[in-house]
Amino acid sequence: MSIIDDVLKSNETYARSFTLGQLAMPPARKLAIVACMDARLTVEQALGLKTGDAHIIRNAGGIVTEDALRSLIISHHKLGTQEFLIINHTDCGMLTFKDEELRARLQTSTGAAVVSPARFYTFGDLESNVRQQMQKVKSHPWIPGEIPVRGFIYDVKTGKLKEVGALKAAAATPPR
Ligand SMILES: [Zn+2]
Repeated sequence: MSIIDDVLKSNETYARSFTLGQLAMPPARKLAIVACMDARLTVEQALGLKTGDAHIIRNAGGIVTEDALRSLIISHHKLGTQEFLIINHTDCGMLTFKDEELRARLQTSTGAAVVSPARFYTFGDLESNVRQQMQKVKSHPWIPGEIPVRGFIYDVKTGKLKEVGALKAAAATPPR
């Protein structure tokens, strides 16, 4: 049996005792989260969220891409979320390769150069990556300045979240 057939069987069992059919569309906790797709991070469990509580936007790296911005803007303006959370994590696969290296390998092996994806958004430093993602959200003119945007690193060994403080403009160069 394929893995997909296997999970479809699980869904039959799930649907038999399903009780969440009355949930409203807007997230009950008014929270939107951008998180890495890493299989070791179950965002709902890590944050005590239930079905219907939050929007969870996931991609490789937990990157605020054009598409993540699209979702956040819809999440706030159409579905009422009021706080945004960005979650990266320790041991992220995106720390283990470089955009150019994967692009070159795929171009060579397939013989095809592509326009999309334009970038893979690999990064070398977790904290500064989280700060960059927070900055992309905070600086977007369609996202109101009063929306809290907080960033965290999830430790895949302990399950703990550590907050990454936003850099103040004046403190962009760390003091020595
Ligand atoms: Zn990751």
